[in-house]
Amino acid sequence: MTTLQNKAQRTFSFEFFPPNTPEGQEKLRATTRQLAQLNPKFFSVTFGAGGSTRDRTLGTVLDIRAMGYAAAPHISCIASTRENIREWLQRYKDEGIKHLVALRGDLPSGLASAGEFRYANELIEFIRTEFGDAFQIEVAAYPEFHPQGKSAQDDLRNFKRKVEAGANSAITQYFYNADAYYRFVDECEAIGIAIPIVPGIMPVGRYSQLARFSDTCGAEIPRWMRKKLEGYGDDTASIRAFGLDVVTALCENLLRQGAPGLHFYTLNQAGLITTIWQRLGL
Ligand code: FAD
Repeated sequence: MTTLQNKAQRTFSFEFFPPNTPEGQEKLRATTRQLAQLNPKFFSVTFGAGGSTRDRTLGTVLDIRAMGYAAAPHISCIASTRENIREWLQRYKDEGIKHLVALRGDLPSGLASAGEFRYANELIEFIRTEFGDAFQIEVAAYPEFHPQGKSAQDDLRNFKRKVEAGANSAITQYFYNADAYYRFVDECEAIGIAIPIVPGIMPVGRYSQLARFSDTCGAEIPRWMRKKLEGYGDDTASIRAFGLDVVTALCENLLRQGAPGLHFYTLNQAGLITTIWQRLGL
């Protein structure tokens, strides 16, 4: 990796999913207040495929904004029509939203039709054609490659399509192997991709949950980590302590090598991230 970031330019952000109960909403407000003390550039809120969470995504974004913090909704295009997506983008625009995370999403089981957009690059093109520069657009990147990519090379070319379509910056899938990220960034630079690629960071809370996520999204838990985590069994305190050591060391390494920031997958919890933050001395 060649580009060392000026510390002042680094961006830190936190991702939430939209809660589906009033209690969950209240808890998320407390989490937001706690994480806001770390002074992130923005919070982002995920979007269920086919628009299944769209009102809650927007509601959560507006709630965070009403608390005085910047928030960016995600939008995913799978299982949607152009008309649905246009309406929804217009809604975002009318609400004064200027920052989005734009994704393809995954087809929910039981839904047969992928809709009118096949890939995220088509969504980015659509946003730029219909809405010009109304939104700053973040896209997803995969240092260990997307599970459906035909090959690593093909996946990289597909990432480039999103950048050429008008993405401003990228957030990666989480990873625990920093070398995969450095190599990915180098390869992106070599093919002329110049946008910031912010590492996505997943704290280790519950091993079974992490293993399940990783199996579906193709993010590797290295063997040595799996072995250690499996060895702790139900000892959640040891899992958390080990996870904090590993993830803090990963973040330290990434920032030292010039990563343009960090994006944390919070799972709507503040505890682990606050500890990592303190240990990083940020
Ligand atoms: P794409 O960039 O379209 O890539 C998907 C696959 O298609 C890849 O294998 C790629 O190589 C291939 N491909 C891409 N373009 C082409 C092309 N033109 N021709 C042929 N092949 C192509 N999911 C949600 O449902 N909601 C969310 O809010 C959400 N937030 C996320 C946030 C981040 C930071 C990340 C990393 C992921 C998120 N996801 C979310 C998951 C994401 O939707 C899935 O990983 C999904 O499988 C791919 O989405 P994408 O936008 O990366 O797709």
